[in-house]
Amino acid sequence: MQSRKTKIIATIGPATMDAGMIERLIAAGMDIARINMSHAHPDQVRQIVQSIREISVNAQRCVGVLMDLQGPAIRTGDLLEPLHLAPGDRIAFTVRGEVYEGLPSISVNYDHLVNDIRVGDAVLVDNGNLHLTVLEKRPNRITCEVITQGTLGSRRHINLPGVRVSMPALTDKDIQDVDLGIELGVDFIALSFCREPEDVLRLKGILDYRRARQKVIAKLEDQQAIRNLEEIIENADGIMVARGDLGIECAYEELPIIQRRIVKTCIIRGKPVIVATHMLESMIESPSPTRAEITDVSNAVFEQADAIMLSGETSVGKYPLKCIDMMDRIARRVERSGGANYAQMAQMDSLGARLVKSANVLTKEVEAEALIVFTHTGRMARNAAWLRPLHSPIYVFTDNGSLLNQLTLYWGIKPYFLQFNEDPAMNARNAVDLLKKENRIGSGNNVVVVTPVNLGGRLIDTILMETVE
Ligand code: PEP
Repeated sequence: MQSRKTKIIATIGPATMDAGMIERLIAAGMDIARINMSHAHPDQVRQIVQSIREISVNAQRCVGVLMDLQGPAIRTGDLLEPLHLAPGDRIAFTVRGEVYEGLPSISVNYDHLVNDIRVGDAVLVDNGNLHLTVLEKRPNRITCEVITQGTLGSRRHINLPGVRVSMPALTDKDIQDVDLGIELGVDFIALSFCREPEDVLRLKGILDYRRARQKVIAKLEDQQAIRNLEEIIENADGIMVARGDLGIECAYEELPIIQRRIVKTCIIRGKPVIVATHMLESMIESPSPTRAEITDVSNAVFEQADAIMLSGETSVGKYPLKCIDMMDRIARRVERSGGANYAQMAQMDSLGARLVKSANVLTKEVEAEALIVFTHTGRMARNAAWLRPLHSPIYVFTDNGSLLNQLTLYWGIKPYFLQFNEDPAMNARNAVDLLKKENRIGSGNNVVVVTPVNLGGRLIDTILMETVE
């Protein structure tokens, strides 16, 4: 069976955090496990990462671990009783400890709320379920009118569409979590509410200072991030289309356009891109998806996003394994039907990228059974995935243990660890033998290999072709 090219990310939560369940998720096809730091306790994170590492080694599978930081979430404070609100009702949001009794009121954890917001702006609470508009600003409070009815509870998430929020992208909790992620050797750290390239650079600065190797995934969740799209893509190691918040911060009808723009720009620039949130939402409760969800997943696969992501479906849902199976089936089927091929517009300027492009042309020309790529830094692997070749699988061999599980994010790549020999020809032989043993390639078929060779003491990237014996 043709291997799946689109990678599957599953969020681990109460429904899936025991070792037996993690084993089944890996067997079902989870490529990357996501840990949502808005909910996970450090002890749970330690246990989850340890289970993933042990199980994936036993199963001889590469599985990435993505730590998703909570980020600067704006939240309501505590209420003794939830407030049931109807259109036309007025309530106050207070900051800096203000006590106000003129109206029903609730505190907010964001002291600059009054400075950043304007009269007439929208305030959306609890995933947009409760919609209010700002009527009046006072130094330590805003008065809002309720537009759609709903219930306001304690510690609810607030979105302020279009408002330039001045909270730092990394909170103190995030920085502590980054330390934990480094200690546990997670593969990716996702930066929530990344709004500008400086946010990415700040996290990368912390990682560099600690000599850490984690890849930074910028989560795009609001209008400001979209305005800075190109620069964020340039600086991040990967992008997540975080449709949960993005769908609240932007007009609904803009969301598919924004999603397509992000996916297309990432593919043109050769940066991995993840489409996230609500992909199979109804499967939290139901064993089968809606027709619209099937089409949503297939659309992301057709556009050739590197990965599709499950959140509540696997963290708290009733059918986590069925969700992975569903994504797997849809992805395999849609991949057989072709793809949007945004990669034909890829801006490949480097020599390395052009070399892999030529290898890819050769792979097609000789109907090679595999494109085999050797990499130490991951650069050549990224170049190979960038082209989205549908004609033959890409097997990537690395001697770099810390890169191995990071390769799980790239579209179409199957990673292998191999102790490299001084002689590249020997490496190619070892790789071919291994793939033959796994029945991935057969005698008499061609394979194309991209590898550095030693020419007079200099390592030069080269394309080799051979017919498997
Ligand atoms: C999202 O908003 O889509 C998202 C992935 O972020 P989180 O689930 O962390 O809110």
